[in-house]
Amino acid sequence: MEIKKVVVIGSGTMGSGIAAHLCNANIPVTLLDLKTEISEQARDKIHKSRPPLLLDKSKINNIKVGNILDNFGEVKEADWVVEAVVERIDIKHDIYKKIFKERKKGAIVSSNTSSIPIKVLSEHLSEEEKKDFCITHFFNPVRYMGLLEIVKNENNDLDKINSLKNFCETELGKGAIICNDTPGFLGNRIGVFAMQVAMTEAFKMKLSIEEADAIFGRPMGIPKTGVFGLYDLIGIDLMADVLKSFIKELGQNDPFQIVAKEIPLVKTLIETGYTGRKGKGGFYRVNKTGEVKVMEAINLETGEYSTSKKISIKSDKLDLKKLISREDKYGEYAWSVISKIVKYASSLVPSITKDFNDIDEAMRLGFNWTKGPFEMLEEIGVKTFFGKIDDIKGNTFLENLSQNNNQNFYGSRQKYTDIETFGKAKKKALSLDGNSSAQIYRFNDYNIVEFTTKANALDYDSMDALKKATDKPLIIINESMQFSAGVNLSYTMDFANKNDFQSIEKFIRYFQETCKHLKYSNHPVVSAPSGLTLGGGFEVMVQSNFVASHTNIVVGLVETIVGLIPAGGGCKEMLARWLDTDEAKKDSHYAPLKVFDIIGYGKTATSPVEAEPLKYLKTEDKKIMNRNSLLEVSKKILNENKEFKAPSETEFKLPGKEVLIEMNKIVEKLYNEKIIRDHGVTVAKELAHVLSGGDTTIDKILSEDDLFKLELDAFMRLIETKETQDRIKHTLTTGKPLIN
Ligand code: NAD
Repeated sequence: MEIKKVVVIGSGTMGSGIAAHLCNANIPVTLLDLKTEISEQARDKIHKSRPPLLLDKSKINNIKVGNILDNFGEVKEADWVVEAVVERIDIKHDIYKKIFKERKKGAIVSSNTSSIPIKVLSEHLSEEEKKDFCITHFFNPVRYMGLLEIVKNENNDLDKINSLKNFCETELGKGAIICNDTPGFLGNRIGVFAMQVAMTEAFKMKLSIEEADAIFGRPMGIPKTGVFGLYDLIGIDLMADVLKSFIKELGQNDPFQIVAKEIPLVKTLIETGYTGRKGKGGFYRVNKTGEVKVMEAINLETGEYSTSKKISIKSDKLDLKKLISREDKYGEYAWSVISKIVKYASSLVPSITKDFNDIDEAMRLGFNWTKGPFEMLEEIGVKTFFGKIDDIKGNTFLENLSQNNNQNFYGSRQKYTDIETFGKAKKKALSLDGNSSAQIYRFNDYNIVEFTTKANALDYDSMDALKKATDKPLIIINESMQFSAGVNLSYTMDFANKNDFQSIEKFIRYFQETCKHLKYSNHPVVSAPSGLTLGGGFEVMVQSNFVASHTNIVVGLVETIVGLIPAGGGCKEMLARWLDTDEAKKDSHYAPLKVFDIIGYGKTATSPVEAEPLKYLKTEDKKIMNRNSLLEVSKKILNENKEFKAPSETEFKLPGKEVLIEMNKIVEKLYNEKIIRDHGVTVAKELAHVLSGGDTTIDKILSEDDLFKLELDAFMRLIETKETQDRIKHTLTTGKPLIN
């Protein structure tokens, strides 16, 4: 079965997300709603979406729109019809009646329902129709969330379901997990339960919302939005509807019933329009007094807001064993939440799935957790877990585990896919090496480096691991969300605060040396980025010999935004790429001016389609929809390059002062137009100095080391200024750049 055309019915949040993603996969798609105006508006929203749902905005008109009265004939030609209308069974039943009357024989029909069981959805279908009907539950936002849950019915044509699964894996890049027909399937059943536990325990233990979010966040391998932040993001009213549906669908004795009970404060918030970020605010709100915006947090006992406090629990690293053994309220909270999640998830095996490992993967793909409940149990250790847990009566999974006491109960990972993923490979490494910032996995023929810091920010140790791992062909890849958000600014600022600029210089030199080593070592180096690949992260990628990039990347050199310039080879490599163009061969000013514009504005690209015109990615770099395939593609590159020889060093001919004059005119104009201020001028002039080649003329040849030196000197002059330090501090404390 080939899927060449798709019709999506319902153009709300999910329908438009699914249509946009089909467009990303170059599949012709038609989006239908009650009225054409609604689907047209949906298409406009797709076009303007941030983060963008489309890889290539210029393809927006490949999504055809229409209404279900005049354009239903589109269904006749579709190989797959996706229903994504409102969560109302009567409306869904009506739509299926129409679809099955019109559809092409054998075409797949699926529902995106998040809560209605397949047996209810399909109750009016004939046996023949049921063969081709299933649930395909995508997560929001569709382009970015890896999880797709597929629910079968007992009549399904299994070959067809498998080819749909393959299509969704290969073309749409999803981690497609087949689930049983149980309420909330895997991701939401466990994910929403976890959120409710985190919330109710915070109330019970009298933790502030900031404290709860500080624990139920990075220290537990959960995104930093935490629980109350996530509630605000999803919408407090929407969550209340989700809970009502769980309460209705689940048995009276299901532990979900206890944590899903209505909380008076939550009810008041919804009634008063505090529905979260889309409303007047939620658990958090931004209060504006004059020009000043203040983030406030609600007091769970009084319902009053006061200025939100930053909580430091001095444990940013994921170390669950340490976290649950803390002898304070944070340790107690962490244990209470984790143990309840583990208990609940394990009590649902095999009823919601026979493969417990699928639950972990669903949490990773659908909720961006670093580890699922069973991996948390594995990390805590069977002995420690059973030493602490109170009662496991009736939980067959835990009773068996406690009896056989098998610390290695986990087995292999990511069983839902045949792809040889990094997650699977990790477990098969011959030996481990590395330090606190990066892990080296050693195999017979190659090494893998995975960065392990917050947002994979790079420091001296990250570089050390990379350098050490180039004794064999090397793949740089990671499982966490970001490839690398760049150099660790707090690490750099720690030195600056002590006026220890020598250490900063030493670090930048080592960064440069390592990147050069990546490029010129005797073994090929492949970078496999996904997510943020910024600043230093980009410099690592760009100085690798090959790139296998996920289509969901945000890539660019953003140093100027914090008052710095790229100094790990970013300026050098961008110059090399732009010098290697026909235009540059005709006009010696072309390349420096282009790169000045790109780096000066700190331009970023949100997909490979946007990255190529900026030359952040090359045409020959591999671009891959399914993140799970990054390792296979990287390994294929290594296999094809067994005879690899390091490239010869790039030489640069730059016009020096001649182009500098032009650049300075641009800077002056920006200053006069008040687009940049005094320090902006300083940064731009330093960048101009590097990109023009410094004290050179077009007939002279500059080496890569000459360019590295120009970058380093400019970087050091900037980091020593109070203005740049202020910008970095501001970014570190607020998470946002100081623009002026
Ligand atoms: P939504 O309210 O944003 O959009 C629903 C769309 O369906 C609207 O545009 C509406 O005009 C249209 N519609 C209603 N009746 C219709 C009909 N008879 N024919 C054609 N169109 C009709 O809803 P949503 O959030 O996109 O949810 C759609 C489905 O996806 C639901 O089943 C929901 O449970 C499920 N879901 C939602 C999310 C989420 O995060 N929003 C996640 C996963 C699954």
